[in-house]
Amino acid sequence: MKIIVTVKRVVDHTVNVRVKSDGSGVDTANVKMSMNPFDEIAVEEAVRLKEAGVATEVIAVSAGVAQAQETLRTALAIGADRGILIESNEALQPLAVAKLLKAILDREQPQLIILGKQAIDDDSNQTGQMLAALGDMPQATFASKVVIADGSAVVTREVDGGAQTLSVKLPAVITTDLRLNEPRYATLPSIMKAKKKPIETIKPEDLGVDVTPRLATLKVVEPARRGAGVRMPDVASLLERLKAEANVL
Ligand code: AMP
Repeated sequence: MKIIVTVKRVVDHTVNVRVKSDGSGVDTANVKMSMNPFDEIAVEEAVRLKEAGVATEVIAVSAGVAQAQETLRTALAIGADRGILIESNEALQPLAVAKLLKAILDREQPQLIILGKQAIDDDSNQTGQMLAALGDMPQATFASKVVIADGSAVVTREVDGGAQTLSVKLPAVITTDLRLNEPRYATLPSIMKAKKKPIETIKPEDLGVDVTPRLATLKVVEPARRGAGVRMPDVASLLERLKAEANVL
């Protein structure tokens, strides 16, 4: 069974993101970039399925600028077998990415596609769902457990106030939630080995996909700053203050 995992290059989750002064977006100049954390979980899950003998090949796919090669190398170091870079300098929106991925699915015919539930840069939470619709495939989003058996995936999903277990027929789309697994650190030997694994580069035009943006970001603002704290002399005064504020609210 072939598995495709998608990996997006995003601003590293430890970076203190700054909004550009003109409010047009987030400043990414000279900022550390890494694999989207939910995608690390996707790669880890696919590699575990290969190690368990369920999958035969894991293909990592990234769409974006040439430097997304580094993100693919990380996926290869975790254990993916080969990479595909869909290279574009356009700002790729979820629908465009879903169409590009659909074109890759048509070519590779995987049984399982594992994406992150959302990219931490745009927080769209759309690509997996759109891909499932374009490919006319079942989807199980926010997976916290995946078991493959008899041509189906049994997926436990994190939902408000509990967990739901679904069975989806393969080929299917799964998106990962935080608790699906704990991704491994790539070891030095695996990083060295990954340098020899193949990465194919193609362009959206080669796949016949128009990636022109469909929506424009009007404004990005930073969250309101928290006001300064007040030190209370004792618990009694703290309770008084809380009661007073509750009455105001
Ligand atoms: P989003 O819908 O943008 O929140 O992204 C959801 C998931 O889709 C991400 O976690 C990735 O697995 C995948 N994805 C989105 N954009 C890209 C991209 N440019 N390249 C590869 N995968 C992507």
